[in-house]
Amino acid sequence: MNPNEVRFAADAMLLSLAKWMRLLGYDCLADEALFGRGLAERAVADRRWILTRNRRWAGDLPKALLERADIFRVTAEELPGQLREVAERFSLDASAFLFTRCLVCNEPVAPVAKRDLRAAVPPAVWEREERFWQCARCGRVYWQGSHVRDSARRLEAWLGGS
Ligand SMILES: [Zn+2]
Repeated sequence: MNPNEVRFAADAMLLSLAKWMRLLGYDCLADEALFGRGLAERAVADRRWILTRNRRWAGDLPKALLERADIFRVTAEELPGQLREVAERFSLDASAFLFTRCLVCNEPVAPVAKRDLRAAVPPAVWEREERFWQCARCGRVYWQGSHVRDSARRLEAWLGGS
């Protein structure tokens, strides 16, 4: 599935997973304050899949809400197993949409002209890089530096060519 076909909401225990989902380019809501009923209500309203490790949802949530919630229970205790489970279940594309989303606020990033960024990025980066992307919400600027290549390599190792 591509990022237009599926969206997620991760519970507060899965913030690292959410960050890597965003890095893959998938919309994954996550917040320290988002869990339990609040998470379920938001996910149902937005038609998002809930990602959780909590096994006791049924006891805590109103039945009507639970019936409308799409829940995927992650079993691995840590990355990269968690990411692998979600990638396999939802057939996530591990390379096509890399770094198309802001890691901080989950919004898509858009290409931005280099000439507009002179004051916004470190001088060495401005000299070295040609292509930049920016988040419209928080203003954070992204470029394909070494951290990006490192992350892509880790994903390749974790998820293979899937
Ligand atoms: Zn942002």
